[in-house]
Amino acid sequence: MLSCKELVAHSSDLLDGRLSLRQRLAVRAHLAMCLRCRRFIKQMRLSQAVLRQLPQAPIAELDALAAKLAELRRQQR
Ligand SMILES: [Zn+2]
Repeated sequence: MLSCKELVAHSSDLLDGRLSLRQRLAVRAHLAMCLRCRRFIKQMRLSQAVLRQLPQAPIAELDALAAKLAELRRQQR
């Protein structure tokens, strides 16, 4: 049986789908019994999903932000 520490060590491989079938089963068995690790994996999945969306954030938003900052600076003069 995996320990929580081992599960955490495997977690990024798990989310990237890089575990062997045997490792996946061991992880799944652990998750079935361990609420804390279930929460941990859920958090990892969530932050991974957020990270994946970041590069898709339009550059236009950065431009708009820069323009706003420039405008603020003008108003301060
Ligand atoms: Zn655990």
